[in-house]
Amino acid sequence: MAKYMTKQRAALLDFLQAHPDQAMSAGQISAAMDGEQVSASAVYRNLAELETEGRVRRLRRGDGREVFFQYLDGEDCRNSVHLSCTRCGRTFHMNALGAERMLRDVERSDSFQVDRSETVLYGLCGSCRRETEGET
Ligand SMILES: [Zn+2]
Ligand SMILES: [Zn+2]
Repeated sequence: MAKYMTKQRAALLDFLQAHPDQAMSAGQISAAMDGEQVSASAVYRNLAELETEGRVRRLRRGDGREVFFQYLDGEDCRNSVHLSCTRCGRTFHMNALGAERMLRDVERSDSFQVDRSETVLYGLCGSCRRETEGET
């Protein structure tokens, strides 16, 4: 069943595809989509739809008061464990070998099978760590 693609949804998808693996709030996306005149509420509504379809997921960031979204860019994204920076929102694919080893260890020691497509590790990225170290 083909879903009616609104202009707003198409513009939003274009924008998300240009910014994969970045955690952004609906407000930030709407502000960054300069000239498209898509309101934050329209962005939020479309993001919720995309989330239901599994093309976008929610990420935690900062104090957790705002909701951040990440666009899942195809197979590569679905098969990767993501590392998400709670400070800048940049999200990376974990080194595949390292992820494999970690997930195998969890399976062996806890007899728990991790769903990698649902797994996000939160922390600080390299450049944020350097910045926070510089502050102290
Ligand atoms: Zn990804
Ligand atoms: Zn960062």
